[in-house]
Amino acid sequence: MSDFDLFVIGAGSGGVRASRVSASLGARVAVAEERALGGTCVNVGCIPKKLLVYASHFRDEVEDARLGYGWDATLPDFDWPTLIAKKNAEIERLNGIYGGLLDNAGVTFLPGRAHVEDAHTVSVGGERHHAERILVATGSWPFVPDIPGRELGITSNDAFYLDQLPERVLVVGGGYIGVEFAGIWHGMGSRVTQLYRGPLFLRGFDDDLRRGLAEEMRGRGVDLRFDTNVTALAKNGEAIRATLTDGSELEVDQVLFATGRRALTEGLGLENAGVELGVHGAVAIDSELRTNVPHIYALGDVTDHPRSMDLTPVAIHEAMCFAESQFGGTPRKPDYEGVPCAVFSQPSLGTVGLSEAEARERYDVEIYRSSFRPLKHTLTGRPEKTLMKLVVDRASDRVLGVHMMGPEAGEIIQGFAVALQCGATKTQFDATVGIHPTSAEELVTLREPVAS
Ligand code: NDP
Repeated sequence: MSDFDLFVIGAGSGGVRASRVSASLGARVAVAEERALGGTCVNVGCIPKKLLVYASHFRDEVEDARLGYGWDATLPDFDWPTLIAKKNAEIERLNGIYGGLLDNAGVTFLPGRAHVEDAHTVSVGGERHHAERILVATGSWPFVPDIPGRELGITSNDAFYLDQLPERVLVVGGGYIGVEFAGIWHGMGSRVTQLYRGPLFLRGFDDDLRRGLAEEMRGRGVDLRFDTNVTALAKNGEAIRATLTDGSELEVDQVLFATGRRALTEGLGLENAGVELGVHGAVAIDSELRTNVPHIYALGDVTDHPRSMDLTPVAIHEAMCFAESQFGGTPRKPDYEGVPCAVFSQPSLGTVGLSEAEARERYDVEIYRSSFRPLKHTLTGRPEKTLMKLVVDRASDRVLGVHMMGPEAGEIIQGFAVALQCGATKTQFDATVGIHPTSAEELVTLREPVAS
């Protein structure tokens, strides 16, 4: 008889959810984890990132208070080690909560590195465990391009634990992590240069948001350089000298490689079980999260699901589908349609559904757009813009995409994601009464399409 009905490798957001829900449905479950409980999201991702984003807003807030609202206010010095210590304490608290969740669900937690020995055997710390099913949920790891001096740069894993705030930073890469850290460091007072190898960063997002954010970041003082990459790093005393593709050199104190992430499968032993891996080591899965080996499954960032779906809520959704299908008697497949997301850049972005470019490939569309100065800044004089956009299918009147740049974009777009799940039409948006005065009301008062 097997030791476990399910052996989960990796206790990140997806692995923990799959473990505890499967256990609550009666399965005998073990989960192995070699690092801290909670995975990337809790330890070196979403949660600490959002805490740092909050921290980086105070300078602007106080300046706004002084510029527009009658407060005779200035901020005393910012102390990075204090912030990092507070952040670390919160992350440790969350690690404990994750442990408690597993305990309460009756999951056996095995700290250590798991190795797949054969199709039904996983070893942890030299001990072998036999399992009916195996679930691979090991997530992903930052990818660093192979250039001379790459070891002088850091990744997001390190950025959360720096001893001090760097005075001058170079951010390489124009994805989520790059724009978020550029905003964090700039907000705290660092001088930030961000490079993107293509003509416009945030590939895959709606072009209006991409252009709008570039303009806003430049307006705030981030040195944003497109069609530029780094070719080499070298030590220059305490500093780092970066050579760029345009031949120029840049001296900085820290270089962050935010150049994407790769599935974490190396050394896991999946080949011993005959599991097929796809591009860059990602585990190939079918629509039911099954690998080519019928009782071995995978979910989250380690899989070859679309890379744009490397999001905590997607891993959790996959985990729920997995547990309910395997142990709950209610089979269902993950649904990747209409997954909303936010980028905690400054200003932030929120988006759900199709970008204008994606929609134009499949539909005859009408575009509604509004760009305005938020009410708050009528007093501060800050030239910041908020952008709202709807992409509508002309034939059916269905809203295909909602996109926003501005404060609290994630909070606002979450609600509109429900509307899109329900198949809302533009007429229904128009029939919805706004909440005044808010930025979000703009999305239900956009009357005239822009000329195509
Ligand atoms: P992304 O895939 O979003 O971005 C990677 C960036 O690095 C792209 O601009 C890419 O360019 C560039 N790049 C890739 N290879 C090289 C190279 N060799 N030289 C120079 N540039 C390169 O990855 P991130 O690391 O930013 O984030 C990883 C994932 O984590 C995201 O896809 C997202 O799913 C998730 N995430 C989500 C967040 C959120 O929900 N708010 C926050 C942070 C991460 P190109 O576009 O040309 O390929």
